[in-house]
Amino acid sequence: MRMIEAQKIRVSFDGLKILRDVDLELRKGEVLGLIGPNGAGKSTLLKVLIGELTPEFGNVKILDGKKDHVAKKVAYLPQGQVIHWPLSVKRLVSLGRIPHLMPWEQLGPEDEKAIAQAMEDTDVAHLKDRFVDHLAGGERNLVLLARALATQPSVLLADEPVQGLDPAHGLQVMELLSRFADAEHGVIVVLHDLTLAARFCHRLVLLHQGKVLASGKPEEVLAPENLKKSYHIEAKYGTKDAFYIVPWKTVQGVRRTAYGERNE
Ligand code: ADP
Ligand code: MG
Repeated sequence: MRMIEAQKIRVSFDGLKILRDVDLELRKGEVLGLIGPNGAGKSTLLKVLIGELTPEFGNVKILDGKKDHVAKKVAYLPQGQVIHWPLSVKRLVSLGRIPHLMPWEQLGPEDEKAIAQAMEDTDVAHLKDRFVDHLAGGERNLVLLARALATQPSVLLADEPVQGLDPAHGLQVMELLSRFADAEHGVIVVLHDLTLAARFCHRLVLLHQGKVLASGKPEEVLAPENLKKSYHIEAKYGTKDAFYIVPWKTVQGVRRTAYGERNE
């Protein structure tokens, strides 16, 4: 079953083609990793999926397409969100319940349960009375993930949720996303950590200059020629116990030409 189906998505900004005929689908039970170098178009693609950005061309089907369902069933964790208000962690996480409440409605027991569970799953319960604008970057990321999970969505779109997290919390978030993606749930996660991407994603989509360079199993997508072409790097690979990858070194001389190729 497909939870999201996007076809031939095309987006331009200031005459630059940012996404070019991108196809993507998310199936139930899946953690789909969206990878690619800085500026490849990953965040733009998520914004198209969530409906924040209307593509010039192309088509997005998300769940059954009803607006109300999308608000309740799709949670979006934007990249590098800054929080300026002096809001407690618990209050911020509570905002995740807004799609489920009428404008005048107070939080009920169901809401409180979802909020507590989300804070526990992300290991931020001990921060609940702290102000979010005083948290360390990694802690803030976890709190924002808790807010997204408090919505109890079917689909989670997470833009770099492990950015700035220590290894334990990075693994914890990925383990959480893995558990979340069961029979009724799916995740699209933007990652720069290729080791985590290979370890935790069922499938990967590699964006390069706004196009899908490769998609499929991590072993296939992270093949040497794809890494060379997109990131200009070489990696070391291992297969002991499981497939794994460690980015190893840059490839000399390629990087300089990378951005000039944009609108060939
Ligand atoms: P990624 O998330 O893969 O790093 P983005 O999707 O954020 O990349 O951006 C892709 C490209 O689109 C970048 O070159 C960026 O500068 C450009 N871009 C993104 N949003 C806008 C915007 N609102 N206006 C103009 N250019 C944008
Ligand atoms: Mg981005």
